Amino acid sequence: MTEIAVVGAGVAGLGAAYALRDAEAEVTVFERRDSVGGRAATRRHKGCVYDVGANYLKDEDSRVADLISEELDEGLVEADGPVWTFDGDGEISEGRDDDARKWTYREGLAALGDRLAEASAATVRTGSEVVGITRDAEADEWQLTVRGGETTADAVILTPPAPVTPRPRCRTGPSSRSRSTTPTGRTRRTTPS
Ligand SMILES: Cc1cc2nc3c(=O)[nH]c(=O)nc-3n(C[C@H](O)[C@H](O)[C@H](O)COP(=O)(O)OP(=O)(O)OC[C@H]3O[C@@H](n4cnc5c(N)ncnc54)[C@H](O)[C@@H]3O)c2cc1C
Repeated sequence: MTEIAVVGAGVAGLGAAYALRDAEAEVTVFERRDSVGGRAATRRHKGCVYDVGANYLKDEDSRVADLISEELDEGLVEADGPVWTFDGDGEISEGRDDDARKWTYREGLAALGDRLAEASAATVRTGSEVVGITRDAEADEWQLTVRGGETTADAVILTPPAPVTPRPRCRTGPSSRSRSTTPTGRTRRTTPS
């Protein structure tokens, strides 16, 4: 089966994993943090729940609206009042006048990542930063260096913001790899050095 490695468990990476849920593929998502959701991140403090990144979803795109309201709707709530904002000077105001419907989750918008991960068929590995990606042309596969080990995949989807995403390299000569595992951790192939 085709093995696909997704780097990053923000909504882009988890959205890709979700889109691949019916594909003939074994999908593994590698996330450097200990939780999923990326910039859709929620914190708790003294009984309050607050989002430190994205704070609501809009229904402007019917594909997003259908996905959220039909498949990822557990705990979904509509924000029907004004969303107050503060600017760089610390001024708090009622925010933009906006007719679009806005959604969040009762436990905060980070729940979107959790819902996507649950709805996908992917294996999600948190605490797994990808620090190197090399295309092995001879073996016709990608080699990923994840903190604590090596792994291989037939295809890689990169989703971190461009300035921080690992840069893929290409190796055309013989592989010097001595040990490799698939994204799900199984030993896949051994190449003598
Ligand atoms: C303050 C703020 C408010 C916002 N408000 C809204 C809003 O109200 N509504 C809205 O729709 N959007 C909003 N956005 C934008 C929205 O948050 C982003 O567009 C969206 O979350 C980006 O998702 P992503 O998956 O592309 O990237 P990210 O969320 O950045 O996900 C990338 C993931 O990759 C991981 N990663 C990075 N490098 C590696 C590596 N080497 N190995 C493994 N994992 C790695 C990161 O830890 C992260 O989890 C807001 C953004 C901010 C910052």
